[in-house]
Amino acid sequence: MSGRGPLTYTLSEFSEGTSERSEQLDAGALNLGDVQVSIPHPVEVSLEITRMREEFRIRGQATLRVSQNCVRCLESVESVLTAPIAMLVRGRHERENESRDAPEGVLYHDGESFSLLNEVRQSVILELPADPFCGPDCKGLCPHCGVNLNNGSCDCAASALGDPRWGVLHNLRQGQMPDH
Ligand SMILES: [Zn+2]
Ligand SMILES: [Zn+2]
Repeated sequence: MSGRGPLTYTLSEFSEGTSERSEQLDAGALNLGDVQVSIPHPVEVSLEITRMREEFRIRGQATLRVSQNCVRCLESVESVLTAPIAMLVRGRHERENESRDAPEGVLYHDGESFSLLNEVRQSVILELPADPFCGPDCKGLCPHCGVNLNNGSCDCAASALGDPRWGVLHNLRQGQMPDH
């Protein structure tokens, strides 16, 4: 790693055919600052890069552990995500033959190197759950006192017994008690 950025490759390091590359990168390098997520461990990227002359077909995945807050109870939730990576890297001169916007999944090298950082970043963002839950049975927070109902109950439901609508039920229960 001589001063080049993460996920940046020089063309000359690949011979014709398929090579494998794997890299661990610091979550900070993915620059996900605008996303509500924390990534406590390095992101593992593994790639299969197939060179056909000046064209490189990339397949692989990024695996990362993310920590987000449950949207119901606000506890932090850790999950492991796998973001697929698939793209084609072509020579920049090819671009003049094509329409102005690069087709989906295609990027261009400058004849010397290419960087996959932005593409990996995009696929990671696509995989992040928009509404993370700590579990399908999350009970959330009590809307009255804010207690996390997954950890225990609060008195809000009990004091609702003081509500006259509950009074009847309450008296019925009391009536069943053999207290004399
Ligand atoms: Zn939850
Ligand atoms: Zn409560």
